[in-house]
Amino acid sequence: MDQKVSIIPLGGTPDVTKNMYLYEYKNEIFIVDCGLGFADETMLGVELLLPDISYLKTTNKKIVGMAITHGHEDHMGGLPYILPELPDFPIYATPLTAEFANEKLKEFGVSKRVQKVNFDGGEIKIGSFAISFIRVTHSVPDTSNIFIKTPVGNFYHGSDFKFDFNPYDGKKTEFKKISQAGNEGVLCLLSDCLRAEKIGKTPSESKISIAFENEMEKCEGKFIITTYSSNIARLNQIINASRKFGRKVCFVGRSVIKNKQIAQDIGYMRLDKGMEVSVEDLKRHKDSNLVLIVAGSQGQENSALSRIVNDDFKEIKITPKDTIIFSSDPIPGNEISINSLLDSIAKRGAKTIHSQVSSDFHVSGHGATDDLALMMDLTHPKKVMPIGGNYRHMVAYKNLAKKQGFLEKDIIVVENGQEIVFAKDSTYLGRKIPVRNVYVDQISGEEVDSFVIRDRQKLATDGVIIVMCEIDSSNGQLVESPNIVSRGISAQEAKEVSRNLTKEIRSTLSRKKQKVTDWMYIRRAIGQVCEKYLFRNLRKRPLVLPVVIEV
Ligand SMILES: [Zn+2]
Repeated sequence: MDQKVSIIPLGGTPDVTKNMYLYEYKNEIFIVDCGLGFADETMLGVELLLPDISYLKTTNKKIVGMAITHGHEDHMGGLPYILPELPDFPIYATPLTAEFANEKLKEFGVSKRVQKVNFDGGEIKIGSFAISFIRVTHSVPDTSNIFIKTPVGNFYHGSDFKFDFNPYDGKKTEFKKISQAGNEGVLCLLSDCLRAEKIGKTPSESKISIAFENEMEKCEGKFIITTYSSNIARLNQIINASRKFGRKVCFVGRSVIKNKQIAQDIGYMRLDKGMEVSVEDLKRHKDSNLVLIVAGSQGQENSALSRIVNDDFKEIKITPKDTIIFSSDPIPGNEISINSLLDSIAKRGAKTIHSQVSSDFHVSGHGATDDLALMMDLTHPKKVMPIGGNYRHMVAYKNLAKKQGFLEKDIIVVENGQEIVFAKDSTYLGRKIPVRNVYVDQISGEEVDSFVIRDRQKLATDGVIIVMCEIDSSNGQLVESPNIVSRGISAQEAKEVSRNLTKEIRSTLSRKKQKVTDWMYIRRAIGQVCEKYLFRNLRKRPLVLPVVIEV
């Protein structure tokens, strides 16, 4: 029989986030990444999306292992939700990625762990696959691409990267390994394409330092910076500029404090003794001696920045002498909340610098056309396949690949769920696996401290009920009885609760039989009906987590 390997993207094409790719050989499946998706502006509130893993739960094939490319939420944030649903298999990642992932798993009370692999660790055998991690530059340290050998041919999994020839942390792209992969032969290059529309080269992370220093020197009050907390090189540039001007540094907000701690623990960040000031001790220092690194660059409600700017943070008040820098780009969908923050800052008379005013304080972690073309050159694959972008980015990548000499038939542009089969002498589209949107209400995530506390209180006193409903999108009705899981409720009660909630949900939904246009409404309706029933009958207010699966 003809030998073949398949790739199936479960998420990431064409939706940028919730990256998850399956490589199948015979009855083995090897998975790359397990990301979260973020709600867009049509999905109000704090909520998340997950790749649909129904196929993985029903297939007879065996998952032999998983590798995580880097520590961004859209590549590893799905782990605590998805791992408990799947059988055990080994999961590998480079050091910082593994730290971030394991911290998250611990936080969610999931006992599975990611194994740490060093870049010089060589090849790892996973079933019939052999993989190696290749260091690339991006916007979080220890980002890797993965070279995957299979009995049919080799694949270069080039998720998020740019080629920064002068990375701030000195950790350079392993060009030698990339070209070695090219020499061994690459059947298909899967490549980041998010910035394929941008002509030229993405600038180096190192260029930010000078901008920080120039502004810090001029600032007579507090120097406040908000950025992505996982961008450790960015945090280090802020710390080094602070050191130069003798300013103390204060970390504000859960995510920056957590990531600072992890970075320090594994030696990726150095703070001199006495350089760090806690929020409580800020009052002992003059404003002009302070740098505040604050979480909430996307304008998230309840984030430290939002609370400070809205005068809801006891220890930190904005004064007209302060400078506030957004060292970030708005993630599409967050513009409105960021604009409202900028307005509130303007009211307080402080200076703000953000991406609409200056491009000196942020660079992207994704490669532009020159970076992407160089990757094609180095790996010289037979086929290319853009991943991790919207459809228009995939098309831009396709046009770039054509310019680089690839024929139309060798450029694979597919959407989630589409299997691509690589046989010895041919490549063709295989099965189309149905993938649906899976929404999850966020129970504990960045910048939602008050939610976390409220949820934990509910969990501690009244338990938790997870209600999983498959809803037919054509009529808004249950496809089958919901799957109800409860904790902290007696077995006797749970049985009865499960039976009655099913009845209640069914009757509520039956009153609104129509094509679903608003999934948020459905989730809220299910949540409310459960909460009402539980309070009426048990006098309890457990944490209710409605999970709606669109069919
Ligand atoms: Zn990334």
